[in-house]
Amino acid sequence: MGDIQLVDAHCHLDELERRGMPAAEAISAAAAAGVLQMVTSGDSPAENQRARELAETYPGVYFTPGWHPSNGRAPSSAERRELRDLLDHPRAVGLGEVGLDYHRRDGGTIWDPGAQRGLLREMLELAAEAGKPVVIHQRDAGGDLLEVLDASPRVPTMLHCFSGGGEFAKAAVSRKLHCSFAGNLTFGSAADLREAVLAVPPALLLLETDSPFLAPHPVRGRLCHPALVRLTASWLASHLGVGLELVAERSSYTARAFFQLPSP
Ligand SMILES: [Zn+2]
Repeated sequence: MGDIQLVDAHCHLDELERRGMPAAEAISAAAAAGVLQMVTSGDSPAENQRARELAETYPGVYFTPGWHPSNGRAPSSAERRELRDLLDHPRAVGLGEVGLDYHRRDGGTIWDPGAQRGLLREMLELAAEAGKPVVIHQRDAGGDLLEVLDASPRVPTMLHCFSGGGEFAKAAVSRKLHCSFAGNLTFGSAADLREAVLAVPPALLLLETDSPFLAPHPVRGRLCHPALVRLTASWLASHLGVGLELVAERSSYTARAFFQLPSP
């Protein structure tokens, strides 16, 4: 086993709490697995505040306040001010989740794509102004996402829960976008992700759980929590034919550099 160290680059500790796992429990399970640092992300004003509280409480927890496209509307001016203020918090290591989601669930509707793109542009400007990186959510919107990024101020950008194949990964890498892979990388059905991960160099590759979602093989379908990033790291090590130590060391180094985290 050795004493490896890992970073969970993206999780939702508040949602994990709502599903019955207290943050303290998740954090001690993570520490036992060598996961000493994690970034918990907010999607809405209430979640952003809870993420802030958790980051103020636990030394290994950092947060990113965000505004998910599934809110179905743009933030009000008061909500924008709150986001801007949270970004200046010393434990806030980026802005997100923000992004584009064109996926229709069960024949439902999606928020107007033009409005989504407009808000994303504003969010990229906000991050640039605050001097913090951006955590992007995208679903079924890869082409539009690259267009918006190409036309916006350059800020360090991470594609969280990377989705897409080798071509999209190459397009992301050529733009120096960081790609963060979640537990679905380990699913038997994820041929596209297996191909994509080979196109991403270590300096741009992060690992995350997106807890409480997407628990990796062999615990797929169960509640996901930050300790399980170790299973994804082990899976990737065997996919690449290298040791877990190397994957842990490189992905943690990249995560710390991206979010400017201190050594744990
Ligand atoms: Zn997420």
